Amino acid sequence: MKKESSLKGGKKVKDIKTGSKELIKEINRYKVLNIIRKKQPINRVEISKACNLGTSTLSYIIDELTNQQLIKEVGESSSTGGRRAKLYEFNEDFGLVVSVKIEEEQIILAITDMNADVIDLKKVGFERKSSPNIVVNLIIDGILKLVEKNQREYSQIRGIGILSSGLINRQKGVILRSSMLGWKNVHIAEMVQKNFHDIPVFVDKNINGYTLAELWKGEGKESKDFLVVSIGAGLGLSIVKDYKIYYGFVGGAGEFGHTTIVVDGYRCHCGQQGCLEMYASEFYFQNKGKELLSQYPNSSLKSFYFHEVAQQAMKGDELANRLIKEMSTYLGIGIRNLINTFNPEKVILAGEGMNDSQLFIKHVKEIAYDNFFSRADVSTKLLESKLNDSAWLMGGALLVINHIFQAPIYEEVKE
Ligand SMILES: [Zn+2]
Repeated sequence: MKKESSLKGGKKVKDIKTGSKELIKEINRYKVLNIIRKKQPINRVEISKACNLGTSTLSYIIDELTNQQLIKEVGESSSTGGRRAKLYEFNEDFGLVVSVKIEEEQIILAITDMNADVIDLKKVGFERKSSPNIVVNLIIDGILKLVEKNQREYSQIRGIGILSSGLINRQKGVILRSSMLGWKNVHIAEMVQKNFHDIPVFVDKNINGYTLAELWKGEGKESKDFLVVSIGAGLGLSIVKDYKIYYGFVGGAGEFGHTTIVVDGYRCHCGQQGCLEMYASEFYFQNKGKELLSQYPNSSLKSFYFHEVAQQAMKGDELANRLIKEMSTYLGIGIRNLINTFNPEKVILAGEGMNDSQLFIKHVKEIAYDNFFSRADVSTKLLESKLNDSAWLMGGALLVINHIFQAPIYEEVKE
């Protein structure tokens, strides 16, 4: 759907002025709604300050949003000498959202409210490197079962948000290439949408979904320039600049896992050699662990999954400890490179690998904190995400919700 410009040639000046007035009104309406979504519960004084709006304009917008049942009054803020102020919240029951995360061997599906809080979820496994058709059918079947189980109506669903690994064309809803899944040019939005008429489907990269959750529910409440790095089976990065995810030329910004750290190093699933992901994630355990196994006859390592290696390391297994130490050295250097490239306020670490962070976080910090900026007494915080695993699903839902409540001026052009 192409966005029509409201300021086409041939219009009289009066029409243009009325047109822009309408647009400004519309933009203010979304501004108010989104500040309530982000800072709820919030009173009028705070909204007016955040949106830079006068009392009468704000009153009009609040009445309108209340009548449309998009926001609700939820009591009053406690008095601190002055008058008590009414508090407003977003109406999370305005509709439902379906969120889907595609992983290497399973999909996780959830239905959420309009605050992106998970109401119910379901996991469905599949064989590694399954075809897109198989996985899409599992998604469709999973959505049907989840909606039915929770006794909800399809008319309540405002959209479906899908998160996947790989290079994604968000405008067209296409997974251009995912070397983890072994997929190329998969028109996933269209394939899913066919089965759910009129329900829009949105697609983005896993880590960007997690970062949307950080923006709306976590670090984004305080910071506008930060990075999110996910650690575990792979290595992901999302770049936040001025409260927005930076997408790059074709939407692929953040493939930091595929920057080269070892010349002629391990062959990566992406096709290159020596990628950071091969050294600073579970892949390192699989590559290096197998090489070293014969030198450690007493090692109890049975597999090279992240959590298995971490557990054995905690029990004192020498090989496991060596692998963790070396992996975290590469990770620390990778994060140092990120800090030097982006000068972020903070770097948030997330992902399943962080469940075992006590084994490596100190070492990673030691390396990452020794960077270009630290020598000029500028410190960069390295923090563990405070969100839990449901943040991925929240992110999938936020893809949909943010799109619905995006001010018209920011609407992206769909080709
Ligand atoms: Zn690679």
